[in-house]
Amino acid sequence: MSEKAQKALNELTDQIKQVSTLYSCMSLLGWDERTYMPRKGAPNRAEQQSMLAGMAHEKFTSKEIGDLISEVEASDLVKDPLSADAVNVREIRRVYDKQVKKPKSLVEEISKTTTLSEQAWVEARKKSDFPGFSPWLAKMIDLKNEEAESVGYEKEPYDALLDDYEPGETAENITKVFADLRGDLVPLVEAVANAPKKPDVSILEREYDVDRQAILGKAASAAIGFDYDSGRLDITTHPFCTTIGSGDVRITTRYNRDHFAQAFFGIMHETGHGLYEQGLDPQYSGLPMGDSISLGIHESQSRMWENIVGRSKPFWKYFFPRARQVFWEALSDVKLDDFYFAINDVRPSLIRVEADEATYNLHILLRFEIEHAIFNKELKTDDIPGIWNEKFQKYFGITPPNDAQGCLQDVHWGAGLIGYFPTYTLGNLYSAQFYAKAEEELGNLDEEFSRGHFDSLLGWLRDKIHKHGQRYRAEDLVKQVTGKPLSHEYLLKYLKDKYAPIYGI
Ligand code: ZN
Repeated sequence: MSEKAQKALNELTDQIKQVSTLYSCMSLLGWDERTYMPRKGAPNRAEQQSMLAGMAHEKFTSKEIGDLISEVEASDLVKDPLSADAVNVREIRRVYDKQVKKPKSLVEEISKTTTLSEQAWVEARKKSDFPGFSPWLAKMIDLKNEEAESVGYEKEPYDALLDDYEPGETAENITKVFADLRGDLVPLVEAVANAPKKPDVSILEREYDVDRQAILGKAASAAIGFDYDSGRLDITTHPFCTTIGSGDVRITTRYNRDHFAQAFFGIMHETGHGLYEQGLDPQYSGLPMGDSISLGIHESQSRMWENIVGRSKPFWKYFFPRARQVFWEALSDVKLDDFYFAINDVRPSLIRVEADEATYNLHILLRFEIEHAIFNKELKTDDIPGIWNEKFQKYFGITPPNDAQGCLQDVHWGAGLIGYFPTYTLGNLYSAQFYAKAEEELGNLDEEFSRGHFDSLLGWLRDKIHKHGQRYRAEDLVKQVTGKPLSHEYLLKYLKDKYAPIYGI
């Protein structure tokens, strides 16, 4: 019996690794598409990708895989639910069930509608014409509702969508944590907005030679631990991090000659993602135990290195002399304190992707509240501009002048990415909660950072988070690592402790 089950497990592992290899080829093609591929290569690249995607899907959803999963599940091999074998089988089952439950016709219809609705969104945003996009969004919501019904859920259909990005998370839990955060964050942002002290951000808008930005950015990412023997940094339009396979993690950025912060903190952010990927256990490569947990946990790593470390005073005590050496013309007359204030400029603004670390979360809360209500049919898509502007005024104290700078600014809804937005703020919440625990266990890290030593924090993250792959669901990982369930208090305390002295509030 157990010998037979072991054989089934070995066979399942082989098959899943083959599927992962197909996905890894797709990752490489996708990376190339967004970095080096000439524009006219797009149609051929689309064919390559769609052929590989079809092969991977067919292989993964085969009856053979289903039978192998069932055979292993019925054996002693999964007796300990946190053993590597049990975790791998649990997660393969989760994804397998989802894939086979979705009717093929629905998958095709969603894919077709996504293309058209994204086009409609591009046009609508150009003309700031929400009514031109609204019927497409309504159709997308209907299709995603159908999808939720076909894959199933415990409490409410929205949870089925969340499961794609943050397995195990529920709208009920998010609603509560986000409401707590909103209650405390709105007054904090208001106090900062009303503070008479303002940074001189023009020092970041001087001329910063692009080649030298690349050298400095690379030096910073290497300093915090990114291994360039197992990774690369390249240029793209919309920065991302992708893993081709074990030992090959690619990060990307874009440079703006007239702005210091965009590429620098973009690189720190993607490096945070890259450090997580480089910290996964190579012995489980291609299997859930060698894969990241969720978008939120991924984002917790990027935000920690970008914001908690990268925008901290101790980091710049160490790094500012270096930046000044590289950009002598731009920075020789700038004091560390003024530079630190400029990179921590907090102010209410219209566009999410340009927002600072404090107001960013309000952009997300607003989107979650609206998409959740729309998905539950408590609101119609036509109501979005009105409710958006009303909430925006309440949270930020400003009203968008038009829908292009309001509810039409993001591609997500048009692309069918509903349930995705919350993972950004979950990432910020996790990062603050993890960091508080790291400092509790390691002692204050400021002194180490100011000397350019980041290895005790990275080692802690490797040990507590990275090496476990998907052993724990995000919710359980937070409890496991910090001893407490997810709470808004850590992020709030972090923001208060940091911004009260900066703004004198
Ligand atoms: Zn990210």
